[in-house]
Amino acid sequence: GPFPVVLVGPVQKGFGRGGKDLGCPTANLPDDSITPLSSVAKTGVYYGFAQVVPPHEDKGFRAEDLTVLPMVMSLGWNPFYKNKSLTAEIHILHEFQTDFYGREMRAVVLGYIRPELDYISREALIEDIETDKKVALNCLQRPGYQKYANEAVFQQPG
Ligand code: ADP
Ligand code: MG
Repeated sequence: GPFPVVLVGPVQKGFGRGGKDLGCPTANLPDDSITPLSSVAKTGVYYGFAQVVPPHEDKGFRAEDLTVLPMVMSLGWNPFYKNKSLTAEIHILHEFQTDFYGREMRAVVLGYIRPELDYISREALIEDIETDKKVALNCLQRPGYQKYANEAVFQQPG
């Protein structure tokens, strides 16, 4: 497979289409940041690690702000562009105190969970997202994956 695939870029504003309502906000990467994956990938849900880098001018940031966190990512067609471009949206498995639009997000995509599906209800979608999160956490706990949390792409504290 193509993994690990490294993605880096500033977090963009999306359509705000219910991410937060679904309990699953997704940080969007710009089109040119996702070509390493979209050029090799099928649409669907992936798992991996991600980091949100504090701005340079933020002298007060703490070492734990650089923690590398588990994530689930959806790669899919953006209807706004009439199916001509793929979008990648990352949900980080962490409770953030604030939004982080504009910050640099760094991610390592490590594996595929499932294809994109259509849902008969919001509840069915939410249920599947919860399953995706559990699958991601289980996969990432395997010893072979820990080294990817220390990938060179991630900024180290200090
Ligand atoms: P948008 O359509 O603008 O992407 P969302 O409802 O998907 O709106 O919310 C995404 C934003 O929520 C992210 O860009 C980020 O700033 C913020 N956010 C807060 N917590 C998280 C999280 N755990 N994972 C991803 N994004 C988060
Ligand atoms: Mg989003």
